[in-house]
Amino acid sequence: MKLLSPVLVVPALCVAACAQERSDVALRSGSSSALHPHSPSISVTSEGVAPRPPRVPAQYNSVNMSRPIVALTFDDGPHPELTPRLLDILRQNGVRATFYVIGRNVETYPDIARRIVAEGHEIANHSWSHPALTSLSAGRLNSEIANTSEVIQRVTGRRPTNMRPPYGAINDRVRASMLREHGLDVIMWSVDPLDWKRPGAEVVRRRLVDGATPGGILLAHDIHPGTIEAVPGTIQDLKAKGYGFATVSQLLALQERSVAQAQPPAAAGDEGPAVQ
Ligand code: ZN
Repeated sequence: MKLLSPVLVVPALCVAACAQERSDVALRSGSSSALHPHSPSISVTSEGVAPRPPRVPAQYNSVNMSRPIVALTFDDGPHPELTPRLLDILRQNGVRATFYVIGRNVETYPDIARRIVAEGHEIANHSWSHPALTSLSAGRLNSEIANTSEVIQRVTGRRPTNMRPPYGAINDRVRASMLREHGLDVIMWSVDPLDWKRPGAEVVRRRLVDGATPGGILLAHDIHPGTIEAVPGTIQDLKAKGYGFATVSQLLALQERSVAQAQPPAAAGDEGPAVQ
């Protein structure tokens, strides 16, 4: 994770008044940086600048950043044929993506879930059976999310840190449960190519590429052949436009915090039909 440059967070008023303190800090931190010990943004230890405090979980449609980086995200797998084909394409192109998997599919195809993680991708929670979470009782809501995180952890050794609600269906109750009870970021999207309507690979590619913005989160589904077919050209076009690729967690770690970090909630969109 890239730390904030210490120079950028020095309060201007302290540059002269706190010269003595600064020289002390420079000694303690082992650097000549003009650090102020009372800076609200960083703290200083014997090892130097401490990392940021942990983020509070939040909901995102995209991530605030000026660098041309996007997150490719694929929902509803693992699929026994299409997900391995997609993984081949991502590996050939050196691109890491995020997979919002369904718990019962992970249980059925554990080897594919393990391959997702082994090849450097992020695996995240998309519920156990793909219901609209807003329609569930508190007990069922909890089990849909908890059981999915558990099977992902049992199979891959990784515990998800974020989730995407099926169909994008979210309300205050579901959001509060995800953020506070489960400690998961809620990840929506900034580009929806409506690939579940199967408009053809070229249309999916054009919609994803045209919609991309720095910090964008691109939604797709690795259960539709046309989506998989669209991926090589999408990556090629985005690279030609100067874009790089990150997982969702990497994107969150890179976010620029000078502006509001969380985006307003997305409207509950139609993310697609129930899986398979
Ligand atoms: Zn879905």
